[in-house]
Amino acid sequence: MDSRHSGQHDPQSAWPPEHCPPWCARPHSRDDHPEDRLHRSEAVIFPVVTTGDFLSIDRHTGEAQVFITQGVRGDVWVSVLDSDTPAVQLNLTLDSAIGLETALRQSLALAATA
Ligand SMILES: [Zn+2]
Repeated sequence: MDSRHSGQHDPQSAWPPEHCPPWCARPHSRDDHPEDRLHRSEAVIFPVVTTGDFLSIDRHTGEAQVFITQGVRGDVWVSVLDSDTPAVQLNLTLDSAIGLETALRQSLALAATA
């Protein structure tokens, strides 16, 4: 399978890439800064209530988002980002994101028994 059909691209190829993964929603330009040379999906945004410390009574209402990126090396990342606190970000491999999904389902099932 060549790189055009695998959703990955040759890191040695010129930018912008000839093909994007089907989920890429980011426009590309020859003038993109090297750090911006990546594919990125649309963000899935969802409302959240968070706290910095779960023992605290302080709550923050905001938004979080999930999006996919793929850099020039071909690694695909699933990012979970608190929209109001960009420093709070999880960047997960696909396998790790599946592990998070499983852990969330298990934890939510436990919480439902309370
Ligand atoms: Zn792209």
